[in-house]
Amino acid sequence: MSDPINTVIIVGGGSAGWLTAGLLAAEHRPGPQSGKKIVLVESPDVSPIGVGEGTWPTMRTSLQAMGISETDFVRHCDASFKQGTRFVGWLHGGDDYYYHPFALPPRFHEIDLARHWQSMRNELSYADAITPQPAACEMALAPKQIATPEFASVLNYGYHLDAGKFSSFLQNHCVEKLGVTHVVDNVVGINTTTDGDVESLRVQSGEPIHGDLFVDCTGFASLLIGKHYKIPYRNIQDILFNDRALAIQVPRGSDDEPIASTTLSTAQGAGWIWDIALPTRRGVGYVYSSRYATDDEAESDLRRYVAATADAAFAESFEPRQIRFDPGHREKLWHRNCVAVGLSGGFVEPLEASALVMIELAAKMISEQLPANRAVMDVVAGRFNDKFLYHWRRIVEFLKLHYALSQRNDTEYWQDNRNPVSIPPDLRESLQLWRHQSPRYQDLFHIDELFPAASYRYVLYGMGFESDGAGNSRHSDIDTRELADGLFSDSAKLKSQLLGALPTNRELISKVSKISLPKV
Ligand SMILES: Cc1cc2nc3c(=O)[nH]c(=O)nc-3n(C[C@H](O)[C@H](O)[C@H](O)COP(=O)(O)OP(=O)(O)OC[C@H]3O[C@@H](n4cnc5c(N)ncnc54)[C@H](O)[C@@H]3O)c2cc1C
Repeated sequence: MSDPINTVIIVGGGSAGWLTAGLLAAEHRPGPQSGKKIVLVESPDVSPIGVGEGTWPTMRTSLQAMGISETDFVRHCDASFKQGTRFVGWLHGGDDYYYHPFALPPRFHEIDLARHWQSMRNELSYADAITPQPAACEMALAPKQIATPEFASVLNYGYHLDAGKFSSFLQNHCVEKLGVTHVVDNVVGINTTTDGDVESLRVQSGEPIHGDLFVDCTGFASLLIGKHYKIPYRNIQDILFNDRALAIQVPRGSDDEPIASTTLSTAQGAGWIWDIALPTRRGVGYVYSSRYATDDEAESDLRRYVAATADAAFAESFEPRQIRFDPGHREKLWHRNCVAVGLSGGFVEPLEASALVMIELAAKMISEQLPANRAVMDVVAGRFNDKFLYHWRRIVEFLKLHYALSQRNDTEYWQDNRNPVSIPPDLRESLQLWRHQSPRYQDLFHIDELFPAASYRYVLYGMGFESDGAGNSRHSDIDTRELADGLFSDSAKLKSQLLGALPTNRELISKVSKISLPKV
């Protein structure tokens, strides 16, 4: 029990496995000096899932922490810059749209700009009033210039990337630069100690692989936490109905087609279509609920979407790949000396791209809190479970918010999504509160909330939600009016400067392919 935790075995070589390996190795420097060993085992027969192409701005910090150059990353992962999500048709089912940009509203902690925006809500959208980012996205502009140092931004950003290339890129970096040991083999069994810990993994063609801590990154196979430990799965389909996706890669019509700097999320009769623009292709897919649409119906909706946005012949001929999932998560993510990261721990639809960020957060916590020995591992495991079950709860609520506010009546899917029975009680309560005041920090309970109050505001006001302001102090309103007017006008000025100064996403990516971004 008092032996140090020296050897970490990661099972799975998808984004979860390699991100975890990279973040752990960057912090703990495997090798003779540290005494630490980080081994990643992946199957030669089971490919990584190959989707998961939208990230959050947190990915910049993760890449930087692993010592990756942003220029190399953009060049090798077919990456582009993402500034948020444009939601189309979520409110009425037509051309209506709103943005959830990555920009934090100016002086967010000091002033409730949402309150002041109410008086101009009919002329200007909330997001447009407080940040130039939606306007930059409308013009497919990049969030920075070629002279902006690596990972620094003019406007906050994450990435769109090719998931397959990303895993390979991380693999090279982890093995060549960070000292991660890579084993390609099928895990076929698990040896345990008498008290139930994982002692070693039996593999098809080599000696058993021993370790002190095992990270289950085996995707939907969930080999350790699911199949071996049988930790129950909490299904949340009564809240978030989607359980299938049809995914395709749409070739680019021409080399100079604009590369959108926002994920497009277009609502459909039984779900929504994602559209992610990479330099060489678009990743497009329909996430839907099998309770409300047949696979054929979903496929014809996807064809209709592609026909309207790409080559007609391609729209008729593509063969979509279907992915089925059980929306939810394990009731425990860390059990004994095994912790699940990525799809093995759970998955809900990719609205708001919360999966990769959860992997980054999990890997960072495991890395920062790597237990000194087995005796204290259960303490860390308990805290990890509390934190990540809380994150899961908040993700489910935040995603449900997008559906609960819709005014669409055209299909049962949308009507049922508004049925209070399908809305978690905490979200129902919050919505009641927000009728009178904007979401604030106090409405959320942790300092490292996945979705901050600012994100709730973008969705609420983007979806036409009205707060009467009765929960705000009139006095503070009068005091802050001048400051608010100044900030609105600063945002408008910044918009006209940036729209003239920022390159398009395509121009910047093309420059990065030839000239490196300056190092920090
Ligand atoms: C339709 C869809 C869209 C998505 N979009 C987004 C998005 O936009 N943004 C986002 O953040 N996330 C998104 N995600 C989630 C994202 O794809 C995943 O979180 C991410 O790719 C991590 O996957 P993973 O590494 O956990 O699993 P996988 O990629 O499935 O990797 C599993 C690994 O386990 C290995 N393995 C399995 N069995 C064995 C065995 N017996 N022995 C050895 N190795 C084994 C496999 O070889 C593989 O390497 C999306 C998911 C889906 C389904």
